[in-house]
Formats: sequence, C-alpha cells, structure tokens
Amino acid sequence: MTETLEKPATHQFAAETARVLHLMIHALYTNRDIFLRELISNASDACDKLRFESLTNSTLTTEQPDLNIQLSIDKDAGTLTIRDSGIGMNHDDLIANLGTIAKSGTSEFLNKLTGDTSKDVNLIGQFGVGFYASFMVADKVTVTSRKAGEEQAWQWESDGSGTYTIAPLDAQPRGTAITLHLKEDAKDYLDRHRLGHIAETYSDHIGFPITLTDSEGVVHNLNEGSAIWAKPKSEVTDEQYQEFYRHVAHSPEKPWAVLHNKAEGKVEYTNLLFIPAIKPFDLFHPERKSRVKLYVKRVFITDEGVELIPPYLRFLRGVVDSADLPLNISRETLQKSPVLDTIRESVTSRVLSELKKRAEKDMEDYASFWEHFGAVLKEGLCEGMAPREKILDCCVFNTRSAPGKLMTLAQYKANMREGQEAIYYLTGESVEALQHSPQMEGFAARGIDVLLLTDHVDDFWANVTLKYGDIPFRSVVKSGEDLEKFPLEGDAAKEAEKAEESADIAKLMDAMKTLYGEAVRDVRTTRKLAETPICLGVGEGDMDMRMERFLAEHKQLPKRAAKLVEINPQHPVIQSLAARVAAAGLNTDTEDALWLLYDQALIAEGEPVTDSAAFARRLSQFLSKGLAA
Ligand code: ADP
Repeated sequence: MTETLEKPATHQFAAETARVLHLMIHALYTNRDIFLRELISNASDACDKLRFESLTNSTLTTEQPDLNIQLSIDKDAGTLTIRDSGIGMNHDDLIANLGTIAKSGTSEFLNKLTGDTSKDVNLIGQFGVGFYASFMVADKVTVTSRKAGEEQAWQWESDGSGTYTIAPLDAQPRGTAITLHLKEDAKDYLDRHRLGHIAETYSDHIGFPITLTDSEGVVHNLNEGSAIWAKPKSEVTDEQYQEFYRHVAHSPEKPWAVLHNKAEGKVEYTNLLFIPAIKPFDLFHPERKSRVKLYVKRVFITDEGVELIPPYLRFLRGVVDSADLPLNISRETLQKSPVLDTIRESVTSRVLSELKKRAEKDMEDYASFWEHFGAVLKEGLCEGMAPREKILDCCVFNTRSAPGKLMTLAQYKANMREGQEAIYYLTGESVEALQHSPQMEGFAARGIDVLLLTDHVDDFWANVTLKYGDIPFRSVVKSGEDLEKFPLEGDAAKEAEKAEESADIAKLMDAMKTLYGEAVRDVRTTRKLAETPICLGVGEGDMDMRMERFLAEHKQLPKRAAKLVEINPQHPVIQSLAARVAAAGLNTDTEDALWLLYDQALIAEGEPVTDSAAFARRLSQFLSKGLAA
C-alpha cells in the first residue's frame, strides 16, 4: 500500500450524504452486485471526461495515452480495486464529489423515504446512489486519485460512518483507484470467476477496454472496448441494451422502449435512446434537463448545456453520436450550431413517430408510457417551435364514451357525429369528476364524445387553440350553442323550443341578473344541460374556469372575471321558478331558491360558495320544508 505523506485530515460528510450512506450500510439489498456497475460507470465517465478535455489540451494524455479500466483482486488483503486512467480528482474534487451529493432534488428524495426497506430500495434505484453503493459490500473504502495535468495525488478514506479522511500521497498514475475492503459476507467477490462474470455484464457496452487481474496476476479481458451504439443493431443483444440503459440511466429496471438508429442524409448521426419504464423522481424538478449524452465521433462531449433534446422529451436517456459536428468546439458555439438544430429536429420526429406507432399497435402497453410521461409530452403542445401536429398524433385521452380506455385523436375523429365541427374537451381534477359534470349532460344526450383532460398542462395547450388537422378543439363549457345543430328527437326538442321562447323564462333570467348583481355578467339558456337546472358558462374567447382559478391562485391574475350563468329551460325546477317569478316577482322563498341554485353551480365547478353561512341556512330551511311536506 502507498504511504500517505502527512497525517490525514478528517472531514464530516454533508448531512444528506451521511443519510444516504446510512441507508447503504443498513439497507438489505437483494442485488448488491450493482455496486460494480456504479463504479465501472463512474470510471467510464472519468475516461470520457479526460478524452474530451484532451481535445483542447493534448498534453493531458501525452505521458499516459491509454484510457482504460482495470479491476484487480487481492485475496490476501481481502480487497477489490477498480482503477481507471481517466480525469482523476484533486483534493477539492474529492471533498465536493465524495463528501456531498450535488444532485438536484436530493433532499426531496430523502424526505420521500419511508423507512420501509423494501419500498426504499426501489426509490434508491431511481435515485442512483453511484459511488456510495461501495458501502454495501465494503466496510472501508480507499480512493487514491491524481487529476490529469496535476502532480499531487490524494488519498480519501472512509468506513462510511459520518467522517472521511483526506491526505496527500506520493507519486501515483493518473486517474482514480477505488479499493474496497470487502465485508466478511462479501468476500465471494474475490472469486475471479464470479467477479469476472458479473463485471462482464456491466462492461460489454463500455467504450473503453476493461480488464480483470486475478490474484495470480493473470490479466483477463472483459469487453471489446467499442461503443455499443456504433455496432449494427443485429449485433447487439437485448441484455446488452439493457445493461447500457442501466449505465446511462442509473436505473435498475428494463427500459420501456429502445430506439437504435443510424440516420444518413443531410446530417449523419447515430442515436441509441431509451424511454424509461418508470417515472424518474425528478421529472418535474425545475432543474431537470435532458440527460441524453452527446458524442462526436465516439468522443463524449456533453450531457448538459446544449439542447440536444427538447424539454418535452426530457424523459429520454441514452446517446446521440454524430460525425458532422466539429470535435473541438465550445458548448456555446455548439448550442448555436445549425447541425445541432437539424439533429434535434430529426431525433424528435424519430421519437414521435415511434410513439405514434406504439400507440397504434398496443394501447394497453402505451398506457403505461402515457401514465408516466404523457403530461411531459403535452408540454410540447404549448411550445411555438414544437411539431405540434406530430405531438398530437402521440397523445391519447380518456373520453366520455369510454372512460378508463385511452383513445387517439384519429379514433376520436372517426367517431365524430356528422356535422360535428370541433373536438370537444372538458378539463377538471379527475376522470370521475368530469364524467359526472353537469356541463357534459347535453353532449351525453346527443352521443357526442368529449375528451376528459385532467393534467394541469391541459389547461394551457387547450387554451392556445390548436387544431387537429383542420378540426379545432373547443371547451364543452363554451359550446352550448353548438348543440343546437343536434336537436334531440321527439317531444323534448319541441318542448325545448317552446320553453326557451317563453316569456316566463325571460322574466326569470332578468330577475336572476338583478339578484346576483355584479358577480354575474349574464344569465342565458343552454342546451348543455339535461338533468341539472343550472351551471356556469364561459364566453367565447374567455379563459376556461379552471385555468382562471389556477392563475388567480398563483397571483397571475389581478381579478377574476364575472361569471356567466346558464340555465336549463326544460328543467322542472327552472320552469316552476319561472312561473312563480312571473306571477308574483321575487320573494324570500324564490330568492333563496335562486341563491341555492347559483351556489350549486359554483360547487359543481369546484368554486367556493358565495357566502357559506347563508348557504347553510338556506339549505337547512329547504331540507326542513322538504322533510315536513
Ligand atoms: P454520479 O456518478 O451519479 O454523479 P457518484 O456518487 O457516483 O454520482 O459520483 C459523484 C462524482 O464523483 C461524480 O459525478 C464524479 O465527478 C466523481 N467521481 C466518481 N468516481 C470517479 C472516478 N472514478 N474518477 C473521477 N471522478 C469520479
């Protein structure tokens, strides 16, 4: 073992790191092998980083040009070492990288942990603990490292229990060596065959040569060292794809989809992209960026700072490699490169057309994708630059006619009634609530289907008035008049006309306007309702109510607009009130009834009642009368 030059300095782990370490040491893992994946992955990243740095500073690799990863076993010492000739870490890097966890969202993640090991293990899988996984198998970890371009080497050491030490070291090869002092119950990793077997699975896809040196000093090759995405599809097995996915996504499960293509044309590039099968914990974290890695001629360039993938596809993982971008180019120049724009557009349409195909092929399977990422994908509908038509082709919806089943817009269109000119939708909190919304009654009675939209993003895109082909989207709330084109058969229709024309109804509406005052802009009749006497409406060109409420709650609106009240002229309650008001004008009873109706309309839309004490009083009075009768 190398001697440190001075007495080591002791440091405290950052609080969050200490919690993760505690979990690592105490969690009962079903699959401890993954520590090796994490360490090989880090070593490969370190080699990638150095290769990138040396593009602009070739002296970094002159003394030691090879980039590789070496595993070695020391049976006598009971240690396993993973050494790489990558970028290395200096004193400050060791503190920043191995003493703290810099990932955004770490504390949210930790707060989600339940203390129930079996549940937490899944969460940890999504989070990706990286280096700290070492402590699942080691009771002490020693890291020696020398950063490329620097003379001084350093040794970091810890048993994972709250503190670590750092001390300067004498001369070391460039890169990092991680030595695991294996726990008694993890000594089987010293078996050459067992270790080699595990390491091979984690090494196959890595673009640097990986070797295993056994206790006798014999060196075994574990991989070919060529990048997996550069191989033809036919030469890559499912298992290799999966392993590569685990490497790029730090995720234990199988991906939902693999997209491996070579594009030849205006711009040449290869993509190996994955759509995860589970939702990453930070999908909606504001700092979450796309995690797709950009390579140029197999050289890793960056996985941040350039928009290779649009934000609404940020669930994608994997790599894009192009020979058409220059190698030594700054990120700023890269971001502005028209080649990058072409690649982004091309990758985007590739992903969207794959999604469309999958939705058409197997809706049940597509539903699992949609549940996790549908809301993210729909963000693209709000973006001016995005290919909205193509995104709409990948969108699926719950509908009034078949809630619980998802439908594409093509299917909706095929089921439209003759003469129907719009795609109708209603936004709300849940599919159940929307199904029972009074707003829907007239559409149900006429067999016109309605999209049930429950994601917050729906309020935004639906309001920017898109079209699907040449069919506009229209909110049900604003579409009472559209229903006039679809009269209901038989008496009901005639009666509707009669009732609407009746002078009594007109008088009732006047009285309502006077009674409700400024809070209400207008009262009108509607065909939207069947079972319900009253509801709220929204004028053409006005914002949907849920959107308005959302903006007001987030202080984005100075004042909410006055409401539009719509009544069902055929409803017995409305007809009887109309007759009473026509005969005797307003009195306490009819006023109370009209206020109750108004509050009922508010409640149906999830709005607070005007005056809750008055509402309660009126309701109990009506109940007493009703029960007494
Ligand atoms: P992650 O790899 O997800 O960032 P880790 O906990 O595995 O998280 O590693 C933290 C950081 O430590 C890495 O981002 C990297 O900067 C650094 N690091 C880890 N292993 C190595 C290594 N072998 N060589 C150089 N840097 C490393």
